[in-house]
Amino acid sequence: MARHDVLIVGGGNAGISLAARLRRLGARDVAVVSPDRPHLFRPTLNYVAGGQATMSELTRSAASVVPRGCTWVDDRAVAVHTHERELELAGGARVGYRDLVLAPGLEEDLDAVTGLAEAMEAGWARSAHVHTQASAVWEAVDGMSRGRVVFTLPPEPSPCGGTALKPLFLAADLWQQRGVLTHIDVHLVTPYADVLGLPFVDHRLRAQLQRLGVTVHHGARVTAVDHGARTVTLGGATETTVLDQVDHAFVVPPYRGPGWLGPLSADDGTGQVDVDPGTMAHKDVAGVWSLGDVAALGTRPSGGALRRQVEVLADNIRRSRLGEPLRAYDGYTIIPVTVDRRRLLLAEFDRNGSQAPTTSLVDLAVPRRALWLFDRYLEPQIYFRALLRGRLVP
Ligand SMILES: Cc1cc2nc3c(=O)[nH]c(=O)nc-3n(C[C@H](O)[C@H](O)[C@H](O)COP(=O)(O)OP(=O)(O)OC[C@H]3O[C@@H](n4cnc5c(N)ncnc54)[C@H](O)[C@@H]3O)c2cc1C
Repeated sequence: MARHDVLIVGGGNAGISLAARLRRLGARDVAVVSPDRPHLFRPTLNYVAGGQATMSELTRSAASVVPRGCTWVDDRAVAVHTHERELELAGGARVGYRDLVLAPGLEEDLDAVTGLAEAMEAGWARSAHVHTQASAVWEAVDGMSRGRVVFTLPPEPSPCGGTALKPLFLAADLWQQRGVLTHIDVHLVTPYADVLGLPFVDHRLRAQLQRLGVTVHHGARVTAVDHGARTVTLGGATETTVLDQVDHAFVVPPYRGPGWLGPLSADDGTGQVDVDPGTMAHKDVAGVWSLGDVAALGTRPSGGALRRQVEVLADNIRRSRLGEPLRAYDGYTIIPVTVDRRRLLLAEFDRNGSQAPTTSLVDLAVPRRALWLFDRYLEPQIYFRALLRGRLVP
């Protein structure tokens, strides 16, 4: 049986960035367990849904992103045997570890919304968050000149769920430019009392939604969809609303941590790994760590959050071996939102939802063309050329 010094589960943003960072810091035996599926720079999916990017721009082979010097185990983890310090793989083999890092991301929980799986299968419900459907969102948007559409923000935890506003604003701006927006009844369903539950950007987003004539359903989530009847049912704190005659339901699925994590998950119903939100060490099991979307870090998951998580976790694995005090991740995370087809604002915030700006030179929470250019064109380059290669980018 193979045994590795550091074994990482998941070849996404978290797993690959951490593996590369550990190698850069001198770790000699790092292995990544991940099935041979294309590696996606997922933020660009929203631009695919908005007709501003193509799938080929964001897709790389799994083999091409595994950092040089790391072992790639092309398989899927199915169980962790913490006493033996072994990971069980779908193929039946086991791999031993000294430190194990869990980074398999979140799983779509289609069954949590009645009828969603069938409606997606039928192509009536679709979401940029489901990578196979991003192009279909654009086809629906591009082909629309009248009718009713529903966009949703998912409940947390979700992979940067707030960015689901991007396809809405990109579509509405396009419809306005084409002079058809007045014929399209646009609805937004949000689980928050305001748009994102982030006061320092909500006033701007609210004004933009009002300007575009979008009806916002606050404190609500989609409980059922029926592609036959073309209805979307919303559950709120006190009431149920049924939207009928819906032409397209752009519904982001709810998410949860993978079931195979078993007792390593928190008992809060999210299925996320039960780690200390600061140190990212498992609360009960020594030698087990987690980062990325699957980790219960008390903040909204995002790729931007990973920059700090990777730095702190790579350092903490080293510190734990030297018996030094561990560092703490501060909960920093981001949500970039395009407010139209040329401008974007960046919400940077902490665990409490308070603004946590990385620069005092310019207020990034104000929509700017330069930010859209950065997010659309520069960010993917930084991701593939620096972050996935273990370089720290502030
Ligand atoms: C549409 C969309 C837009 C987004 N926009 C932004 C944005 O603008 N800004 C931002 O900061 N973030 C954004 N995000 C969020 C960002 O993409 C995620 O936070 C980030 O990808 C999380 O990385 P991860 O490695 O934790 O999980 P993932 O990216 O989900 O990667 C998990 C990896 O683990 C592998 N895996 C799964 N199960 C197993 C298993 N059992 N065994 C082995 N491997 C397994 C998977 O194949 C995958 O490679 C967006 C996400 C989406 C979906």
